[in-house]
Amino acid sequence: MRIDLHAHTTASDGTSTPRELVAEAVCAGLDVVAITDHDTTAGWQEAAEAVRATGRPLTLVRGMEWSCTARGGDASGSVSVHLLCYLFDPQAPAVTAETERLRGERARRLRVMAERMAAAGLGIDVEALFAEPDGVPGRPHLARALVAAGAADSVAAAFEGPLRSTGPYYEPKRDTPVAEAVRAVYRAGGVTVLAHPRARARGRLMDMEQIGELAESGLGGLEIDHTDHDRRDRDYLRGLARETGLLSTGSSDFHGANKTVRLGAERTAPDQYTEIVGRATGAAVVRSAGAGRDGGA
Ligand code: AMP
Ligand code: ZN
Ligand code: FE
Ligand code: FE
Repeated sequence: MRIDLHAHTTASDGTSTPRELVAEAVCAGLDVVAITDHDTTAGWQEAAEAVRATGRPLTLVRGMEWSCTARGGDASGSVSVHLLCYLFDPQAPAVTAETERLRGERARRLRVMAERMAAAGLGIDVEALFAEPDGVPGRPHLARALVAAGAADSVAAAFEGPLRSTGPYYEPKRDTPVAEAVRAVYRAGGVTVLAHPRARARGRLMDMEQIGELAESGLGGLEIDHTDHDRRDRDYLRGLARETGLLSTGSSDFHGANKTVRLGAERTAPDQYTEIVGRATGAAVVRSAGAGRDGGA
């Protein structure tokens, strides 16, 4: 079984619509794909409809990637972490109220950054940036605008240049304390997996001691096989998962044309996937007519 549990669509900062993601999952030979947009479940319905309509075997896991903060590893301040949330009740008030606040916070911060860039003459049209019927705003949207304006050669170059968190245009956003998000999703019947916990290129890492504490608050697993983790990161995390009794996953973190990684490039073991589905009570997986019981656990 080929299982990829982390993919973005146009509901946040991916470039494939939810319907296209489903078609691409079939093309990539996946048996299971998860839709995990940043701070929104807006893509769930279209993805579910597309899976039900496809004649090919595919199972959809409905999820979200929640923008959170955690304790920094060098005991100084907080750092950004991402929490993958699977099969939770999307109507649960503790989830909807906080993710709605986060979406507002994302729009505010992206506008501040865009205005700073416009004022500095980088050729960003702030109103055009927000006029697109796109999903939850993220820095990849601004990265594409910078490339279009000739202020960066590529999305990756934009992240290393004007979008970097240490740069003059950067504006932080106020994210959710990760323990709070873990508890909210647990209460909403979902299963949480800490996304790319050792992705050092994105900034400072969280305090790894906090992972044991989160496990006690209901954290379900760690995303271990991810392109931002090298061999040592993966070995370290496998040891940590064993020690703390956490599940382990592997996924592509597909963003369409906004990243080079391909759908299905990293995958989750079937037994870990089955355990996630077995624990979740907030939402069901969606199977296409051609998907066996196997694909749905
Ligand atoms: P934001 O959530 O708005 O702060 O933007 C961060 C998002 O940008 C991450 O979740 C990734 O999807 C994406 N990202 C981060 N670094 C890069 C990069 N070097 N190239 C492309 N996308 C990136
Ligand atoms: Zn993203
Ligand atoms: Fe992430
Ligand atoms: Fe992601």
